[in-house]
Amino acid sequence: MQDAQIGQFFIRVGLDVPLPGLFDYRSAQNVEVGQRVIVPFGRRQLVGLVVAVGEHPAVPIEQIRDVVMVLDDLPPLPDSWLRMMRFAAGYYQRPLGEVMMPAFPPPLRKAAAYTGKRAAGGPVARLARRKRNTVGTTPAAFHSADSASSPELNADQRAAVDKILALQGHGVILLRGVTGSGKTEVYLHAAREVLSQGKQVLFLVPEINLTPQLESALRQRFSAGCSTVELAVLHSGLSDGERLEAWLSAFSGKARVLLGTRMAVTVPMPELGMIIVDEEHDASYKQQDGLRYSARDLAVWRGHDEGVPVVLGSATPSLESWNHALQGRYHEVVLNRRARDVALPVVRLVDTRRLRLEQGFSPQILEAMNERLQQGEQVLVFINRRGYAPVLSCTSCGWVSQCSRCTAYTVLHRGRTGAPRLQCHHCGGYVQVPRACPECGDQDLKPMGRGTQRIEEFLADRFPEARIARIDADSTRLKGSAERLFAQVHSGEVDILVGTQMVAKGHDFANLGLVAVLNADSMLFAHDFRAPERLFAQLMQVAGRAGRHKEGGVVMLQTDYPDQPVYRALQKHDYPGFARYALDERRSLGLPPFAYQALLMAEGRELVQAIEFLHTARNLPELNPAAYTTREHVMLYDPVPLRVVRVANVERAQLLVESPSRPALQRFLAQWSADLFALGREGRVRYSLEVDPFEI
Ligand SMILES: [Zn+2]
Ligand SMILES: [Zn+2]
Repeated sequence: MQDAQIGQFFIRVGLDVPLPGLFDYRSAQNVEVGQRVIVPFGRRQLVGLVVAVGEHPAVPIEQIRDVVMVLDDLPPLPDSWLRMMRFAAGYYQRPLGEVMMPAFPPPLRKAAAYTGKRAAGGPVARLARRKRNTVGTTPAAFHSADSASSPELNADQRAAVDKILALQGHGVILLRGVTGSGKTEVYLHAAREVLSQGKQVLFLVPEINLTPQLESALRQRFSAGCSTVELAVLHSGLSDGERLEAWLSAFSGKARVLLGTRMAVTVPMPELGMIIVDEEHDASYKQQDGLRYSARDLAVWRGHDEGVPVVLGSATPSLESWNHALQGRYHEVVLNRRARDVALPVVRLVDTRRLRLEQGFSPQILEAMNERLQQGEQVLVFINRRGYAPVLSCTSCGWVSQCSRCTAYTVLHRGRTGAPRLQCHHCGGYVQVPRACPECGDQDLKPMGRGTQRIEEFLADRFPEARIARIDADSTRLKGSAERLFAQVHSGEVDILVGTQMVAKGHDFANLGLVAVLNADSMLFAHDFRAPERLFAQLMQVAGRAGRHKEGGVVMLQTDYPDQPVYRALQKHDYPGFARYALDERRSLGLPPFAYQALLMAEGRELVQAIEFLHTARNLPELNPAAYTTREHVMLYDPVPLRVVRVANVERAQLLVESPSRPALQRFLAQWSADLFALGREGRVRYSLEVDPFEI
């Protein structure tokens, strides 16, 4: 410990610890706001970020400890970045340190990376050394702007690019384009213009699976010419070292384009000139644990704060974004034509109410499949259920297979090798298939319903000549297997593709003539109010796979409810029609985007604990009414168990909070989350508070 003397000052630091507030330390060395420091915390040493310097400490001076090390291997994080972090912490009700620190690549937030025995120089210096030694072997740079390599835009695309580039400073463009309308071309042309002005582009995509395609599109597009433009790619599939490299490259300004999944939205970029959010409606932009932020919403906030345009692209915008466009807050730009000038596929509804189905297939669909295969075209069978059958059942007593740890059925899976097993899709647990019914001993156990594996098996039997591939979370578990399967489809080695939603996104199958949709109805009556919106988006996406390269593409959808507005709108490829219907319904029920929500979730060993916690939480405002100035504008619903109440022996319940006013809700939550923190310390219940929950 050093004595207090001139030249020492107090700093306030954010740390990644589950405690509210910031922490005061003393430093003998000059420190700036935005710099990282290593500080003692309890018995540990942690990397933290300095958010204030020279302020009067909030605790008695004798309790303040000294900084262990000031890290100066990075320039201080800019004000704009700190503003974004403060906003996210405030809006999503989390401690600032818990928001800031996880935004760094892991090597930059581990104290041991600087203080450990083998730490010589820290991760930034080590990376630089390694790069020097391998210079020239990794061609990360691509070349900029060669007009010869970019295709001509059609009039719609041209108009869209012009509208984006006409924005002075911040504005949000909602780019709505039917599948195959060439949204990517619009992004690339707009990005090129922004790059030529010496600025950086942040390009967000919902899934890792979509990065290789876009990465190669970007590299190809800018591969000829003379000046080089660097591209960095960032997603959760990278090693810590790769993440560090991409992050540093964007932060230093070396990378001019950062392509990444939701985590990329927080990367500091000194010369940010535009943000693109592709498939802006996609649920993957919402983080589901820790800081439950929406990368799309944060991108819009960031664009506004830094004064740069934001392009939100989708064939089926979220109703929130669409409503912003209707209100004039976003500029809507429409791409109505497919870029290849191929008509959109015809959508036929197959009314299954009076049909005899063969393994879930109507005669019409089997007939159409046969025809397409005869013509040498590919067929996609879409069924959003993996495994062999959703449940195994006893024909004599009615026993059904259930998970012992969850309130859920177990799904029958047939491995390529090994015995079939019953797998739980909630906790991941599995057991071998019993030889006989555990209840009555009967050996006649039958699979009920169908998943992708059973469909694959049936089709192999029905179309013995056809080459069949199945793409779902099971068949793509191994690294590289998804790419390999998709490559087989693209090269024509596959006649029938059976797949879940994994096949719906982004892929452009040139020879696909027919899309058959089997169990859409199962998603129609889900409890979540966003279910129809999600179903419509998913069906539009999967329908868009058909006939992208030549006329005559057909989508056949089996349903018991052919008059449902979702299907009617799908038949006409009518997003605005669907959105009008869905928004009317939301308005009349007072749901988002006409109300703002937060969800308090509690987990305990017993349901009664979780429910009790939520009841207490619900009553907190009554105990201290003066602190809850906006209480009257906020509605707190009754605590309810989740639909799947028990997962891995943990019982779960939730409480919904709603308000017609976002500021009123925010003020309420600020007080409530502080009180919840105190409440949470007492009991054995884990809780989480989610603002703008995606699923309820
Ligand atoms: Zn039985
Ligand atoms: Zn389970």
